[in-house]
Amino acid sequence: MKPLITEKNIRRRIRRLAIEIVNEMGRGEETAVIALLDGSFMFLADLIRELYQLDFPLTVNFIGVSSYQGNTRSSGRLSWYRRPPLSAAERRVLLVDDILDTGLTLNGVQQHLLRQNPTVLKTCVLLKKSKTRSFDNRVDFTGFTIPDVFVAGYGLDMNGRYRELPYIAAMTES
Ligand code: 5GP
Ligand code: MG
Repeated sequence: MKPLITEKNIRRRIRRLAIEIVNEMGRGEETAVIALLDGSFMFLADLIRELYQLDFPLTVNFIGVSSYQGNTRSSGRLSWYRRPPLSAAERRVLLVDDILDTGLTLNGVQQHLLRQNPTVLKTCVLLKKSKTRSFDNRVDFTGFTIPDVFVAGYGLDMNGRYRELPYIAAMTES
């Protein structure tokens, strides 16, 4: 499996990303980090440990969601398999996801959280595919912009496999 992004580059980038987050969000009040399962678990684990090194106060919660295009043309209906355990109301929220592809899922989750009136909602993704999107996602922090290919590793799977890879690989069809 050929790395598209090496373990070393991931580590280095996440360290910078944590600095960017602290610089923009400040250390003051506790931030509710909300991670989208399943693919973001490894990224989250590394990111929060870097944030810890920077004395950034946080709590961690997980949500499980998949999106499907309903009969409406609206921003995508969410199907929860793990609902948000807390309300985002009056909270500083940092939403963490593995990869921004079409943007449908993230868009739905962002809308959902915004309706609860968080004091701040910032979004962080490890990977962003370079393509044009029909969903206008506001992503505040991006780890890497990658070509529009299917990737696995570092938490991301292909049919349930490869999540354990410490690097990110581009999957070629065969
Ligand atoms: P979107 O709603 O942005 O189209 O897709 C969101 C979800 O699809 C991501 O959170 C991720 O779980 C999955 N996904 C999109 N592209 C890839 C990819 O290249 N590799 C893997 N493993 N999952 C992907
Ligand atoms: Mg995902």
